[in-house]
Amino acid sequence: MVVQSMTNTDTADAPATLNQVLALARAGSELVRVTVNTEAAAAAVPRIVETLDKSGVRVPIVGDFHYNGHLLLAQYPDCARALAKYRINPGNVNLGRRHDDNFRIMIEAAVKYAKPVRIGVNWGSLDQALLARMMDQNARRPDPLDPNEVMLEAMVASALESAAAAERYGLTPDRIVLSAKVSGVQDLVTVNRRLAARSRYALHLGLTEAGLGSKAIVATTAALAILLQEGIGDTIRASLTPLPGGDRGEEVLVCQQVLQSLGLRHFSPQVTACPGCGRTTSTFFQEMADRIQNYLRDQMPAWRERYPGVEELKVTVMGCVVNGPGESKHSHIGISLPGTFEEPVAPVYVDGRLFKTLRGEAIVAEFISILDGYVARRYGGTPGQP
Ligand code: SF4
Repeated sequence: MVVQSMTNTDTADAPATLNQVLALARAGSELVRVTVNTEAAAAAVPRIVETLDKSGVRVPIVGDFHYNGHLLLAQYPDCARALAKYRINPGNVNLGRRHDDNFRIMIEAAVKYAKPVRIGVNWGSLDQALLARMMDQNARRPDPLDPNEVMLEAMVASALESAAAAERYGLTPDRIVLSAKVSGVQDLVTVNRRLAARSRYALHLGLTEAGLGSKAIVATTAALAILLQEGIGDTIRASLTPLPGGDRGEEVLVCQQVLQSLGLRHFSPQVTACPGCGRTTSTFFQEMADRIQNYLRDQMPAWRERYPGVEELKVTVMGCVVNGPGESKHSHIGISLPGTFEEPVAPVYVDGRLFKTLRGEAIVAEFISILDGYVARRYGGTPGQP
């Protein structure tokens, strides 16, 4: 399962797009999609890819085409060559109409330059001719289906018919990825289950226009979790709407967290922390959990190289004695802070055993030092105690 993201810069602004691609790649994006909507954007793509290569960043760049992709791919061969994959929206390339050459020209470019193609259906730009045809057929049925059901079937049909056409134009099945994006969780699950059942193409998953904040993250997680758990999905994206000035990399972290929470992939050590309650009125343990999480995140670029497997590390920070020691013992390394009215000591557990009891002002620094030692010993082969 590969984590994908998309820039929101004007691709024609090569420096801004390059910076965002670098930031997304640093956040862990394994594919980055950029819009290729104008001649200036198509001209910028090779410069962006070349600069990425020179900086040693190997993240593949996917070109997102709508309406004029056939023209841009033909007129800007360097762009066609530089991109790692093309995304084509069958809803706006005239596929199946009298002049369906646009789709064919794009597929032929993919064949010529040996690129995979994602055929990306979106309910906001669903092929209207196909939908109208299927709605008419439905209306003639003795027991017409719900219009939403027809729409979902039209999305599946659009993806599969486009894939069949792509194969007719010479693209091999292993170079075809399908996606069908809607903004409702149940609809996304339904349409992707059908695609998975009716084809063997790779699938890209994502809720389209997921929205803002926790609503977007929860809805995306709910949809992806169901499908991933069923073994459906090869690339994923969280289409979060960032707040103005917000961090675009959040969509990458959400995808990573979904995969890691499901135990499908590991990206970074996890901190387990209790929610706190009346037994611990101090905010110290929340601050400590936050500091540890940030510390781990900051170390990861270096640790990933130096300590293979460290991304599977589990760290626990708990607020009192009720669940603190027990939960800590289930982690590689855990600390149980003193709740209100408890003795002001903080036992540290390493590999399920009491390792040391901390007290005083320097608990966080001491815990981090124990953590560093543990990581070096367990993942770096450094001998001795943590
Ligand atoms: S571990 Fe203690 S402080 Fe944390 S939620 Fe449980 S009872 Fe409350």
